[in-house]
Amino acid sequence: MTKEELKLQVISAIDDNKERIIALGEEIFAHPELGFKEEYTSRLVKRVFEELNIPYQGGLAITGVKGNLKGRSSDLRIMVMGELDAVVCPLHPQADGKTGAAHSCGHNSQIASMLGAAIGLAPFAGELDGDVAFVAVPAEEYVELEYRERLKEEGKLEFFGGKQEFIRLGVFDDIDMGMMIHSHAGVEDRRFLIGCDSSGFVGKLIRFTGKEAHAGARPFDGINALNAAALSLMAINSQRETFRERDRIRIHPIITKGGDLVNIVPADIRMETYVRGTNLEGILDASEKVNRSLKGSAYAIGAEVEIDELPGYLPLIQNSRLSELFAENGERLLGAGTNIYGQELMGATDAGDVSSIMPLIHISTGGYTGDAHSRDFTICDKEMAYVMPAKAMAMTVIDLLWDNGKEARAIRESSKPKFTKEGYLDFWKKFGKGAIDRRGF
Ligand SMILES: [Zn+2]
Repeated sequence: MTKEELKLQVISAIDDNKERIIALGEEIFAHPELGFKEEYTSRLVKRVFEELNIPYQGGLAITGVKGNLKGRSSDLRIMVMGELDAVVCPLHPQADGKTGAAHSCGHNSQIASMLGAAIGLAPFAGELDGDVAFVAVPAEEYVELEYRERLKEEGKLEFFGGKQEFIRLGVFDDIDMGMMIHSHAGVEDRRFLIGCDSSGFVGKLIRFTGKEAHAGARPFDGINALNAAALSLMAINSQRETFRERDRIRIHPIITKGGDLVNIVPADIRMETYVRGTNLEGILDASEKVNRSLKGSAYAIGAEVEIDELPGYLPLIQNSRLSELFAENGERLLGAGTNIYGQELMGATDAGDVSSIMPLIHISTGGYTGDAHSRDFTICDKEMAYVMPAKAMAMTVIDLLWDNGKEARAIRESSKPKFTKEGYLDFWKKFGKGAIDRRGF
């Protein structure tokens, strides 16, 4: 069989199962579940793996599933990944009445197309010069932090993102490179968006401590922690002119507790902020400036400040050769000139963390109306949302694992991920302790 013949056969296997793949996507859409609680969806993934005779491991980071389709040799393993979780959007017409969860980020199409690729490739595994891991990951959305904090205390997780947990647990250890798709809200046409960049972020919980005193009678005996916090907002704003356009830094602090009683000098002030940016160097630079602003303002007033550094998500690094391969297959399916290149994704994703340890692509896909995470988010073209990405990913896997895996080997050899797994884990550990030296990045 030639590579072209194999692609045509896989595409026709996916076409034969078109209704089944759409039904899977719709079933998940109708059963939205929040991160680390995706039990129903996780069972559905396992059911399909069983139907396809793909051996799998379940219960990874609570609800994750990893199937392995064995090819002719096993020294290469390509990953097709999908996210299991929904977002909270109680006003969405198909939201879960109890939890308010809804698939208004379209992660249901990620799982459907990941399974669609498995359905297409499974009968032809013997033609592939390597394995294909089909991976369903929990909890991409950074939400329900108190619930996750509890899971952390119970020893069930360390990170709040499912892929970060997968890295920690070693689920990606045997994977050479990966691909995934994501809905692009508002793009109704049949299009793939290639090489979009996505910011990373870190979080901070901040507490200013001063000294209470009667605000009318003896304010001179107090230390006003609110004044320190207010000063720090000005100090942070004064840093903005030093941020480079290319780093696209976004800092948006809020005061979550501004005092206790109006006639007492505020002694306990809480703030939260994110520091976002398109690259790690920029984020760490801005984060350091925010910390200086907080500490300097506390010092000026004589207050104390504690900064709790929260690991966020890393910026996305899109592998260029994987992007090219996917783009060629995408155009073959959807027509010349249909690809859109280099748009910004304004959110952050823990796919960024995965892209810091292995070559990865995160392709945005059309077929959707409305806004992401909102009540009007709808899938207007089911074939585009569920079936086309399955075909494009399966075709890209074939490109990678053809001719003794020549393409995959070349990508593996030429790519220099930002971190090893150990380096990645160490980075967040040091970050949590405020001990990162940003000059290393
Ligand atoms: Zn999403």
